[in-house]
Amino acid sequence: MSGLTKCGKCGGGMAISGSTDGRVRISCVRARDAGVCDHKRSYYLDRVEAVVAEAFVAVLSQKDVMQKAIGTAIKKRREDISGEAKAYSRAEGGMGKSEGPACNNRAASGC
Ligand SMILES: [Zn+2]
Repeated sequence: MSGLTKCGKCGGGMAISGSTDGRVRISCVRARDAGVCDHKRSYYLDRVEAVVAEAFVAVLSQKDVMQKAIGTAIKKRREDISGEAKAYSRAEGGMGKSEGPACNNRAASGC
């Protein structure tokens, strides 16, 4: 969960702020360290993780949402591959023009 949880009030990161009865608590770093956020409440990390896990499973069980997400990911990946292939072709074409000595005697060298 590190780096993934954000304060609902200021958008700052949430970090471990202590523990109670062996359970880790997290709170807004901006409230805790800088005092620039007034969201002082802390949350049990295990409870936050449980809520996120429940929401994740709920999203995964929605076939139409997953199909759309997978379709979007495949489209993005194809665009990335196409862009990489074009960049490779440009680089490969540029190498042929600028690298290597000029061939002055094709018959003797086979170049
Ligand atoms: Zn905050």
